[in-house]
Amino acid sequence: MVKETKFYDILGVGPSATEAELKTAYKKGALKHHPDKNAHNPDAAEKFKDLSRAYEALSDPQKRQLYDQYGEEGLEQGGGGGGMAAEDLFAQFFGGGGGAFGGMFGGGMREQGPKKARTIHHVHKVSLEDIYRGKISKLALQKSVICPACDGRGGKEGAVKQCSGCNGAGMKTMMRQMGPMIQRFQTVCPDCQGEGEIIRDKDRCKRCSGKKTVVERKVLLVHVDKGVKGGHKIDFRGEGDQMPGVLAGDVQFEIEQKPHSRFQRKDDDLFFHAEIDILTALAGGAIHIEHLDDRWLTVNIEPGEVISPGEVKMIRGQGMPSMRHHDFGNLYIQFDVKFPPLGFNTPEKIAMLEQILPPRKPQATPPSDAMIDDFPLEEVDQSGQRRAQGATSMEEDEEDGMPQGAERMQCASQ
Ligand SMILES: [Zn+2]
Ligand SMILES: [Zn+2]
Repeated sequence: MVKETKFYDILGVGPSATEAELKTAYKKGALKHHPDKNAHNPDAAEKFKDLSRAYEALSDPQKRQLYDQYGEEGLEQGGGGGGMAAEDLFAQFFGGGGGAFGGMFGGGMREQGPKKARTIHHVHKVSLEDIYRGKISKLALQKSVICPACDGRGGKEGAVKQCSGCNGAGMKTMMRQMGPMIQRFQTVCPDCQGEGEIIRDKDRCKRCSGKKTVVERKVLLVHVDKGVKGGHKIDFRGEGDQMPGVLAGDVQFEIEQKPHSRFQRKDDDLFFHAEIDILTALAGGAIHIEHLDDRWLTVNIEPGEVISPGEVKMIRGQGMPSMRHHDFGNLYIQFDVKFPPLGFNTPEKIAMLEQILPPRKPQATPPSDAMIDDFPLEEVDQSGQRRAQGATSMEEDEEDGMPQGAERMQCASQ
């Protein structure tokens, strides 16, 4: 004779229900009233909580005994707090238990829907050449798969028994009499070490030693599409870890573009830094650029053109393949003009230069009554300072005009 039947009524079973009947009743009710399925029905959330509370109490033989004898009051008195959150119980129930996820031990891992093994993330570093041409990468990964020898049972058929100490929950409620109070606390089941199952050593699967999964090497073909951008993600659904009772995890690759020695990339455009001598800048010539697909581009600087230091020119359609527009970006070339070495300008050459170059630009002239002093120019000690060359490279463009001290900070943060 039980003191009250409320919990049994919630689950829709009689007080003599077996554990299996309780389980079935909870499963049916919890699925029906799960808040995910009843977003517009606040009553369902209440009902879901009640179901979980009732099942949590009745599925534990010791708690059930307390409840039968003293009713809900008895549970409240005996329990120092406790009770599992409804969602946790649900997750544990439908997540297959087995302790594989530490779902009930970990806490804070509440997820919606059925449990799924973790996603394996991998950053796939690809050269700019490979992105230009596109390729298929063969990537091998180690993953857990359901043991084929025991079909994920962990032992011979029928040899895996639900732990009687905890009824398969992996956790056990222990009680301690403290004067008139009964103290109740949860602990990892000592009979099964939290596994919820017992397999005798001689029946244990030899292949997986009872762990239910084995590690397997799997090769995945990752399509690196032409022109793919860094940060692009490629998903392989269900190709990740397998575990008994949960959905197989996913594998996700993230494309990372390796830095390139010749080109910088911005979206679909490429940037190239070319050094030319002053004769080429003023009188024309050619530069040669090795492209990303073994082609060499010959770029002619026509005589009559004047290239200033730092000037940027563009070659249409020689950038990266564009994924969306099925065409190509542009190739931008920034020119660095190399001046002749010290001593080049002998007096004869200076005379010739004065004849062929435009005349010196008039400088601001001081007023006639100004004090005038003469100053010689000195060489600057270059150590520790940014050299003039290289400072004009494209990437650093936006740093132009930065005070010298700012550069140091930038180095430190890289
Ligand atoms: Zn096995
Ligand atoms: Zn146990």
